[in-house]
Amino acid sequence: RELPGDPRADNTRRQVAGACYSRVLPTRVAEPQLIAYSHEMAELLDLDKESCLSPAFTGIFSGNTLLSAMDPFAMCYGGHQFGNWAGQLGDGRAINLGEVINRLGQRWVLQLKGAGPTPYSRRADGLAVLRSSIREFLCSEAMHHLGVPTTRALSLVLTGEGVMRDMFYDGHPAEEPGAIVCRVSPSFIRFGNFEIFASRGEHDVLRKLVDYTIRTDFPHLEADSPEVYFDWFAEICSRTAAMIVHWMRVGFVHGVMNTDNMSILGLTIDYGPYGWIDNYDPDWTPNTTDANGHRYAFGKQPYIALWNLTQLANALHPLTDNAERLQAILDTSYRQEFLAGWRKTMAAKLGLTAYIEDHDETLITELLDLLCAVETDMTIFFRQLAKLDPAGQNAPASQLPEQLIPAYYNADALTDDYQASMNSWLIKYRARLVRDAQNPAERRMLMNRTNPKYVLRNYMAQIAIEKAECGDYSRIHELLELLRHPYDEQPENEKFFMKRPDWARHKAGCSM
Ligand code: AMP
Ligand code: MG
Ligand code: MG
Repeated sequence: RELPGDPRADNTRRQVAGACYSRVLPTRVAEPQLIAYSHEMAELLDLDKESCLSPAFTGIFSGNTLLSAMDPFAMCYGGHQFGNWAGQLGDGRAINLGEVINRLGQRWVLQLKGAGPTPYSRRADGLAVLRSSIREFLCSEAMHHLGVPTTRALSLVLTGEGVMRDMFYDGHPAEEPGAIVCRVSPSFIRFGNFEIFASRGEHDVLRKLVDYTIRTDFPHLEADSPEVYFDWFAEICSRTAAMIVHWMRVGFVHGVMNTDNMSILGLTIDYGPYGWIDNYDPDWTPNTTDANGHRYAFGKQPYIALWNLTQLANALHPLTDNAERLQAILDTSYRQEFLAGWRKTMAAKLGLTAYIEDHDETLITELLDLLCAVETDMTIFFRQLAKLDPAGQNAPASQLPEQLIPAYYNADALTDDYQASMNSWLIKYRARLVRDAQNPAERRMLMNRTNPKYVLRNYMAQIAIEKAECGDYSRIHELLELLRHPYDEQPENEKFFMKRPDWARHKAGCSM
């Protein structure tokens, strides 16, 4: 049989017609070294610590060893990038090793990212650098622990080989250490997997892939019902809406919301230039190439998701021939569900058990305007707001409650006008809390399980990367541990409950 590095493996770059995937082989790497693994993910794969620390594990998750049952493949997909159809993209640096059915009967697909070229690599090398792999590894697991639907990460392996990247990338040498992350998900199928066949008029393949996906990943749907494609699309819309609500809740900005980066399961996928909101700013994007109009900004995400779902609807049109139904589903299962979910979540962020139509709209809008008016740290603000005593005295108009002070980036910006506005909002907020009739302890608990204390701020990942590039992986382990319990008070980790330092201002995330 062919093994990694076998010259007979056909990984040559090409257009692939009439097929959902191509058999490929990972490229052999020189000196694989395990840097980190997620023990929760390992547990879900029925792997114990000893197995994870064995040389066999490093061999497999660097792509150097194939188990006999593995038949690796790369998937063919297309996508709309920056609002334009981009043609065939595909798994250019991702190789699926196969699936595991665990003890609980769950099915998990194992996918190596950065294991060498595939037919879909186009002009790129199929490799991944350490910095982007650290970012993907840590963020996947952090998102999971935050309760955000996401693909997972099992392992982070250094390849022992250099990868050539942009010489001008600030602070990084032209050749960077290569790494491989093993991503794990029930499925890695994206909107673009369907779009490619619709765009090529390959409707038979399109139908086969849709039916396969429904059978495999949506087994609760009635596959033989004439309604099944509509039911399926409605569920994709609901799941996507739920995912975006979570992103808005925790301050996550995906950064490349192209249809090839939208999971059919409504999972966060492709941790490229993503970032986290420090100061609340709907216009902020980590994507440095998104100069025109901030398509990928924090506040645009709900709209771009709808746009992407519309592209998926177009791709499904040949199978359903009913544009009105698809349009109606977009409206009810995405737009309306998103709005309802967002309102409920915003209410919970404020410690309210329910959203009261009419009244709370103003309360929320006014607060978001205030958060934008002066640089206010989103995570710290909501966390500190939970400490406010609803029965307490309203502060004098000229003085903010001391609990909120740590959330502000610039004390000089706290003008009398600003403080007066914030205080008058707080009076309304306190009155609203009284109306909600929840006891203060319950309210605080609701807020603290909705508003994380610790998120993977861009500067935190950056420090972990810089240390790792010098051979010190301790910060990766520290962050992995910290982000296991993002809602808990962790007194020993108070240093991570901190605003972005000034040197990290406007630092975008990095991709590639
Ligand atoms: P992304 O912007 O990460 O969603 O990637 C868009 C497309 O480019 C996908 O088909 C990726 O597989 C491909 N791609 C990105 N980086 C590389 C790389 N280093 N080598 C090969 N393909 C890549
Ligand atoms: Mg991608
Ligand atoms: Mg990417």
